[in-house]
Amino acid sequence: MTHTVHARIEGALAMIGFGSIGRGVLPLIERHIGFDRERFTVIEPSGEFAHLLRDHGIRHVQVALTAENFAEVLRGLFPEGKGMIVNLSVDVDSIELMKLAQEIGVQYIDTVVEPWPGFYFGSTLPNAERTNYPLRERVRELGKAYVGGPTAVSCCGANPGMVSWLLKEALLRLAADTGVTADPQGREDWAGLMQGLGVKGIHIAERDTQVSGKAKPLGVFVNTWSVDGLLSEGYQPAELGWGTHEKRLPRDGYAFDHGPGYAIWIDRPGADTRVRSWCPGVGPQYGLVITHNEALSIPDYYTVWDKDRAVYRPTCHYAYHPSNDAVLSLYEMNGAGVRQPEQHILTVEEITDGGDDLGVFLYGHAKGAMWYGSRLSCEEARALAPYQNATGMQVTSAVLAAMVWAAENPNEGFVEADEMDHVRCLEVQRPYLGRIECHYTDWTPLQNRINSFAEDRDDSDTWQFVNFLAV
Ligand code: NAD
Repeated sequence: MTHTVHARIEGALAMIGFGSIGRGVLPLIERHIGFDRERFTVIEPSGEFAHLLRDHGIRHVQVALTAENFAEVLRGLFPEGKGMIVNLSVDVDSIELMKLAQEIGVQYIDTVVEPWPGFYFGSTLPNAERTNYPLRERVRELGKAYVGGPTAVSCCGANPGMVSWLLKEALLRLAADTGVTADPQGREDWAGLMQGLGVKGIHIAERDTQVSGKAKPLGVFVNTWSVDGLLSEGYQPAELGWGTHEKRLPRDGYAFDHGPGYAIWIDRPGADTRVRSWCPGVGPQYGLVITHNEALSIPDYYTVWDKDRAVYRPTCHYAYHPSNDAVLSLYEMNGAGVRQPEQHILTVEEITDGGDDLGVFLYGHAKGAMWYGSRLSCEEARALAPYQNATGMQVTSAVLAAMVWAAENPNEGFVEADEMDHVRCLEVQRPYLGRIECHYTDWTPLQNRINSFAEDRDDSDTWQFVNFLAV
């Protein structure tokens, strides 16, 4: 089978981390990106998959990057200041890497704003400062110093990442289906379009239905992607973009006391904060409000300003139903109040059924609610590329798209997925996304209750966040 080579990376290529995402990206890079194999290095401390790197003829530097060594290790790989760093690790500070990439003159991509160890667990910071808002604000502030510098794509996997491109397609589809003429060019046009369509909010609505043939053993945290990644973000406070239509904060909800204020946080872990949401296949379901960069970048991008007053902004948050084994693992861990001694990421070989439905759920508009996204089975993922399940495939193909876009647009400075060309990125990614589907539904968060109990709800305004929040 021949594959389109979309772009070429001149100079060195360094990938940091070789976990479930790094391993999945490798074959996609080999297929779709021109690069110099002698100058491709993977930096990874455990050596667990060193044999794969040997098989692919990729140089392996087996070292854990730290605040003390990261600059020296990376500078040594880019002596002539040309190439790209793809950061797919945990525990390595993204902001420090972004600064270094600017200094040495290379493009950079990551999938999350990751801090050095100590931020997620055992931190002395107040909960408001353990959110993603201050992390993202630091990245945005820093970006102002590097306008026109080497492209540095912040937070571009499936979500954050691909969902921002799908959101633009979804808006155009909603416009077409409701007879609205739309040809948005820049940020303000997109924000105006969303406002004009009457969208009150967006869930990043995901249902992972992948199962293995083996029951989850007690004492093992099982997930379909990084357990460390899920637990890190899952035990930050729940966090969401805060729409201008919202009348009141939820219980234990707080506004931020600094910066542009497009988000709020809730004083409980995202991995234990449920909302009523909706996905195709299952219909109404619970989703977890785990904090994510897209829950901040999307409301920021789609704010309509009148001078310095925000006159329109959508509510936006993740509504994640992890795989059954991960739900059970979280339940077990929350009950025990401690992490399980073991962890395991389900491989594509172990998964016997299911897939990942990941999309955007736009509500409050003329057609009620709409889910638009990727529906990919694990079987399809298995046939598409090696080393990954359906969850991984949606992430790795987004990383590929970001690499292609960064190679084609090398001097854009700091960007997020919302600011990239969604048409080009989805063109690169689409062959790996299974079916892109659009579903309208008349479901609302006020429907369906098993008996009636006391609850915090606003029957006069269907799309208020308090109606979604189930806790
Ligand atoms: P993983 O746990 O499978 O792998 C993490 C990798 O980082 C491992 O290879 C590990 O050895 C390496 N690593 C750990 N400490 C390191 C250090 N100090 N220096 C260098 N490497 C180090 O994780 P994964 O599932 O591959 O996910 C990787 C990252 O991608 C995580 O940060 C995760 O949150 C993020 N992610 C983002 C999305 C998205 O859609 N945006 C989706 C999935 C994962």
